[in-house]
Amino acid sequence: MERAVREEIVRFVLERPENRHLDGGERYFDEPLVGFASAADPLFEEYKRIIGPFHRTPSECMATEPGASAMAQGTVICWILPVTRATRESNRKERVWPSREWAHTRNYGENFNVLLRLHVVAFLLGHGLRAIAPALSRDWKRIEDTPAGIASTWSERHAAYAAGLGTFSLNDGLITERGIAHRCGSVITDLVLPPTKRSATDHRGNCLHFRGGGCGICIDRCPAGALSLEGHDKPRCREYCHVEIPRAVGERFQVAELGCGLCQTMVPCEGMIPRIKERPASGERAR
Ligand code: SF4
Ligand code: SF4
Repeated sequence: MERAVREEIVRFVLERPENRHLDGGERYFDEPLVGFASAADPLFEEYKRIIGPFHRTPSECMATEPGASAMAQGTVICWILPVTRATRESNRKERVWPSREWAHTRNYGENFNVLLRLHVVAFLLGHGLRAIAPALSRDWKRIEDTPAGIASTWSERHAAYAAGLGTFSLNDGLITERGIAHRCGSVITDLVLPPTKRSATDHRGNCLHFRGGGCGICIDRCPAGALSLEGHDKPRCREYCHVEIPRAVGERFQVAELGCGLCQTMVPCEGMIPRIKERPASGERAR
């Protein structure tokens, strides 16, 4: 069943026309990475301390469905949808606003990610299993004011970390084998699958800044001043991405949801886990 789940996710991403830009050309996302975390992994309890007591465990998520009981055992199925090279390259050239391709990937590509979540849930239900996509649950909430900044009742990035798919970064992303430029998603099921090993020795081990390699190139890329060696100023980033960018280019690009992603492109972690000496393709600093 492990293989069937992986293959179904990969097949859906590679075959579905909804994973293509509106002109039917380039895909939004390349072949996904897929990982599994045990629903009973103590890390999910730990997230209540790290993120906040409002963050749900997989069992709590499952129990929020109408008429559902808690789940004794199960799996969190997670995936990473890597942004294509063509879209990443288009965003590398930008200094203030995202490229049209990046903006469309953030908006319409994320719509495809919603379809993928629904598809994985339907696939599992079709096999007589329980399944929910916590990010689509009526119970999912954004919490604006926490000690860790803006957070939510289920973090897709933290689920992906638990499933061994990457580690966190200076700019609050998740650096995976396919880099930091991606969207991620998850579905919880009572199907028990072997958990993917978390091979990183440190929860920020893939980021050069935390690996003693200096870097901080993403700081220079941020047009909003939301990044520093101290980390990510979430309210400033949010203001820029959700207010200033939509006002400036939302109508021109015909999208409602925008992020800038400049700190995820033209950086050494853009499409891979960076090595100590890695630098952006052109070797130049962004600003
Ligand atoms: S650009 Fe450098 S410091 Fe920033 S997230 Fe990537 S590896 Fe870390
Ligand atoms: S998404 Fe944009 S505004 Fe937010 S930290 Fe990255 S570069 Fe800055």
